[in-house]
Amino acid sequence: MDILFLGTAAAEGIPALFCRCQTCRNAAEAGGPEIRTRCAYLVNGHLLLDLPPDILFHKLRYNLDLAAVDTVCVTHSHTDHLNRADLCFRCVPVYAHIPGEKPLDLYANKKCCDTIRGGLEFEFGSPEHPSLAVHEIGVKSVLQRGELKITALHAKHDPREDCLMFLVQEGEKSFFQANDTALPEDDMEAAMHHVLHDALQGRTLDAVSMDCTHGKEPGSRGHMGITENRIFKQRLVSAGLADENTQFFANHFSHNGHVSHAELCESLAPHGIRPAYDGMVLGL
Ligand SMILES: [Zn+2]
Ligand SMILES: [Zn+2]
Ligand SMILES: [Zn+2]
Repeated sequence: MDILFLGTAAAEGIPALFCRCQTCRNAAEAGGPEIRTRCAYLVNGHLLLDLPPDILFHKLRYNLDLAAVDTVCVTHSHTDHLNRADLCFRCVPVYAHIPGEKPLDLYANKKCCDTIRGGLEFEFGSPEHPSLAVHEIGVKSVLQRGELKITALHAKHDPREDCLMFLVQEGEKSFFQANDTALPEDDMEAAMHHVLHDALQGRTLDAVSMDCTHGKEPGSRGHMGITENRIFKQRLVSAGLADENTQFFANHFSHNGHVSHAELCESLAPHGIRPAYDGMVLGL
């Protein structure tokens, strides 16, 4: 399984869109891994986890053929993860030319699906379009998309909707996308571990990408920082879902965490966690 980390920032990006804070100014000056676009992943070239506002930039920067994407799984409706306007540009024949086109299958919770239908209504005057097959899913939904099996888990992020995280499996390999979640409480964590146990069937996770929005600052109701990442990891290990071979990454960083990529490397290393960066390729 090949996972391309398209972007690794929280909502505003780094440097943030309209910000003059010291972290953003330092990032602009340093460049390289300090520059972060909005968070999303491309798996095996055909599965997109989230559709952020930077997706056109991602296509240009990584020279992607997004017409090859047959599946989009959306974690939740926040605008840094679902930019519904760009979905309209997948519609043939006006906005895209794809010989032998098949509709793009999109899987998301009800709020996202309603948002997407509203976007189509706004653009085309109808909530449906033949190029887009919009499927409502929820916690514990399981999808088989070609060689990839995708399982939806419940994120602790925004109580106004069922925010999702995705476990992606190809054969014995597994990748757990766990951004846009706080450290779950006991009940929620037990439910999450249960779903993971069911899906992994005795194997351990190969890689985990954890929400680290707050960096060195304390976590919040919807996001984690380094302290919570350490606990999230430890609990997966204690539950037998991860071991010394599991690769742990921190992701989805905010400029409000006020921590550079170099500082993240240093702070995370003692816990066996690495910070993700834009353009990182993970082969499992
Ligand atoms: Zn986010
Ligand atoms: Zn800033
Ligand atoms: Zn969010």
